[in-house]
Amino acid sequence: YAAKRSGGGWVVYDPDVHGDGEDALRTAEDLRRALVAGELVLHYQPQVRVCDGALTGVEALVRWQHPELGLLPPARFLPVAEDHGLIGQVTGAVLAQAVAQAAAWRRQGLDLRVSVNVSATDLLDTGLARELGALLLGHGVPASRLVLEVTETELVRDTERASQVLAELADLGVATSIDDFGTGWSSLAQLHRMRFSELKLDRSFTQHLLTDPRAAAITASTVDLAHALGLRVVAEGVEDPQTLARLADLQCDESQGYWHAPPMPAGALLGWTSTTREGARAEGW
Ligand code: C2E
Ligand code: MG
Ligand code: MG
Ligand code: MG
Repeated sequence: YAAKRSGGGWVVYDPDVHGDGEDALRTAEDLRRALVAGELVLHYQPQVRVCDGALTGVEALVRWQHPELGLLPPARFLPVAEDHGLIGQVTGAVLAQAVAQAAAWRRQGLDLRVSVNVSATDLLDTGLARELGALLLGHGVPASRLVLEVTETELVRDTERASQVLAELADLGVATSIDDFGTGWSSLAQLHRMRFSELKLDRSFTQHLLTDPRAAAITASTVDLAHALGLRVVAEGVEDPQTLARLADLQCDESQGYWHAPPMPAGALLGWTSTTREGARAEGW
């Protein structure tokens, strides 16, 4: 296998990530070992408020620091984790690290919302809310500072069970987000019964905002409807200032993407905030 980074995006040379063949089996065994060895690491990508550029939160994105293959992107190992019943363990490891990191930032005076991606499988786990409650309490992190993101396409798989776990999370005070919104066939009308607090507009809309009037129209009405339902809207994949300006026109609340910053190790974030506060002032924000 090989995977390498090229200009901020991932290039993955592996045609068989979902396969049941030798490769996948070997990866599953390797992943079991990696979970014990603590090789799963998180990078954090800033989310900024559109109106003033303030840092509001970060999204935690998992990577596998593999001893031989280097830093592997989630697409390289999450499908294997799903297929081999390891996703719950991956999510557990990610949540533990993200909450510990949120606590560490709080001690440094940085009060950030931390978003964690969970799979639909995790939402069928009736123990999730209880375990999360204990984790947050143990680290002294308010539940409201944690956001769980679930992709829209996965949500439609088992809405009944998932809504119950989502309700428990809402009772706990944990925020929830519909990730990659616009990629599936669900509508906000269907999803509003689940108590979400945030909607992430898929980057396929963000990236066509300036060139495709239909993408702009869908974005505009999605933002309006989301706001009417009391949801915050975060645009993903923002790569240039023109798109950011358009998002401001459309009243989008928050923005995330390479224009602001790529995902980075936790240690780099404090440095990033101090340099961009100056940068932001220079740009007149
Ligand atoms: P996502 O949650 O939609 O995360 C956004 C992805 O877009 C990330 O890729 C991020 O690096 C990338 N990205 C950020 N800004 C830009 C931009 O301006 N342009 C472009 N083209 N891409 C941008 P990444 O880290 O490879 O993650 C891919 C997906 O893997 C995530 O999509 C999420 O669905 C999943 N994932 C990541 N971490 C976890 C995790 O801890 N648990 C689970 N279950 N899934 C995860
Ligand atoms: Mg996400
Ligand atoms: Mg997304
Ligand atoms: Mg995505």
